[in-house]
Amino acid sequence: KSGFVSIVGRPNVGKSTLMNNVVGEKIAIMSDKPQTTRNTIQAVYTDENCQMVFLDTPGIHKPKNKLGEFMVKSATDAFKNVDVVLYVVDESKKIGPGDRKIIEDLRGIKAPVVLVLNKIDQLEESDLFELMKMYHAEGVFKEIVPISALKGRNIKELIKVVQKYL
Ligand code: GDP
Ligand code: MG
Repeated sequence: KSGFVSIVGRPNVGKSTLMNNVVGEKIAIMSDKPQTTRNTIQAVYTDENCQMVFLDTPGIHKPKNKLGEFMVKSATDAFKNVDVVLYVVDESKKIGPGDRKIIEDLRGIKAPVVLVLNKIDQLEESDLFELMKMYHAEGVFKEIVPISALKGRNIKELIKVVQKYL
C-alpha cells in the first residue's frame, strides 16, 4: 500500500512534532512559536506493509499579510489530492472559531479525515472522553485517535488507522 497523508490544523497544535515522530527524524522545525512551518514539508514513512508520504503544513489561521496568505494556501491545498487528511487538534476544551472554520472546510473534501487529538499527556482521562464525544458529534471524522506526539504515545495506532484508508 502507498499514499499521501496530509497533516493539517491550527498553528501550534503539534503537527510538526507528529510528523517528526512518525518518520523518526527531525525534519520539520518544531517550536512553541506559531508559524514556524512556512511551507509544506514532505517526509516518507516506510514499513513492511506500506509507504506513505506525509505532508506537514503551516498552521491554518486568519492571514494578516501576504506571507500568511501563502502559508494558509499551502495548508489548505493539502486538503486536495491526498489519500488521508490528519486534522490535528490539541487539548483545548472547546472548538474555537479557528477550528470551527477548518472543520466546515473539511466537510466538503473527498479524502477521509482522521481527527488526531494531540497532547493527551496534558489531559485527564475524563476530559479526554468528553473531548472525543464533542468531536464525534461533528460527524465529519472517520476516526478519532488520541495521541501525544511529544511523548510518542499511540503513534503506532495512528499509523494503523491511516493504513486502513490507503
Ligand atoms: P505545529 O505548529 O502544529 O507544527 O506545532 P509544533 O509541532 O511546532 O509544536 C508546538 C508546540 O507544542 C511545541 O512546543 C511542542 O513541543 C508542543 N507539543 C507538540 N506535541 C505535544 C504533545 O504531545 N504534548 C505536549 N505537552 N506538547 C506538545
Ligand atoms: Mg509546524
